[in-house]
Amino acid sequence: MEIMPNRMDRGFYQYQNEFEQKALDVLRSGRYVLGEEVLAFEEEFADYTGGAYCVGLASGLDALWIAFRLLQIGPGDEVIVQGNTYIASVMGISINGATPVFVEPDMQYGIDVEKIEEKITDKTKAILAVHLYGMAARMDKLKDLCEKYRLKLVEDCAQSHGACFQGQMTGTFGDVGCFSFYPSKNMGGFGDGGAVIVKDKQLADDFKMFRNYGSHKRYYNRVVGANSRLDELQAGLLRIRLTHLNELTNEKVKLAREYSNRIQNPKIRLPQLSDGAKGVWHQYVIRCEERDRLSQYLAEKGIGTLIHYPIPPHLSEAYQYLGYQEGSLPITEHFAKTILSIPIYNGMTSKEQDFVIEALNNF
Ligand SMILES: *Cc1c(COP(=O)(O)O)cnc(C)c1O
Repeated sequence: MEIMPNRMDRGFYQYQNEFEQKALDVLRSGRYVLGEEVLAFEEEFADYTGGAYCVGLASGLDALWIAFRLLQIGPGDEVIVQGNTYIASVMGISINGATPVFVEPDMQYGIDVEKIEEKITDKTKAILAVHLYGMAARMDKLKDLCEKYRLKLVEDCAQSHGACFQGQMTGTFGDVGCFSFYPSKNMGGFGDGGAVIVKDKQLADDFKMFRNYGSHKRYYNRVVGANSRLDELQAGLLRIRLTHLNELTNEKVKLAREYSNRIQNPKIRLPQLSDGAKGVWHQYVIRCEERDRLSQYLAEKGIGTLIHYPIPPHLSEAYQYLGYQEGSLPITEHFAKTILSIPIYNGMTSKEQDFVIEALNNF
């Protein structure tokens, strides 16, 4: 049996007719950028999360960097972020000239909230909370810290559509919740896309201005902005995905539960949620001291796996200028060497999952 780490085609075929009909409708509408689909999507996604306003953007990275730009966090400022994140989280900070300050993760792969205070200086302006792998970060503690030190709170929800902390959806805790709709995400589009959830009407209007060349009125440009619009086709297709998001999430929760109940191998550590967190299982990440041997063994059986992520941002060539070395963040680096994402995707059959479980148990 061949099992790929992810199957985005399955997610399409689950609702093929609806997607195809919507694509045709948009193609035939004659309106392709900033039309009714985007407006409707923004309203529906804000409702879904329980946030006040949603603004559609071109990608998750744009959501992040434009958020820090509009919060006026730039050169000379520091932003706290976990070391073990996707590099785009860090780029969202550094594109604006601000300095990312890395904190080690806890055993649930979220930022270790006990290690944040020692990193706060008079330059610290914000915390970026990452809900990595679809597991909500410790938002109670992060909110308290942001209030105590008067910091902005931005959330990277690129992997956490629908994930909750103490019943509240990720993306609605902070000043800005940043989402990606890249096809492999839990709520994937069919190309690039992103959005922010914000509480403040003025900030929402600023995002709308910024995404459209800084223009608040046609040909009147208030600031040097960006071209970062969610297009009509993506917005329309995302509206379809959103109507099914709860069932899609439940399907992944069930797959994750099956893995957690049935993988039994002392060499393998299973992922665990923090107290109060509901996960949506963007990835199901196991840990094994013999990770490379395990992934090789699975590959020989036809089971594809991925590593999220093999090179932590502080050791990436792009961030050499920050001056970190191997050994700077030992827990982050140890995770990078021992984590493995096993297949979990909408449309995964029980036969496929049984095959993966059996292989893992026999390793
Ligand atoms: C995917 C991802 C992003 C970036 O989103 P894009 O839409 O690909 O730009 C940012 N942060 C995390 C944690 C991600 O997984």
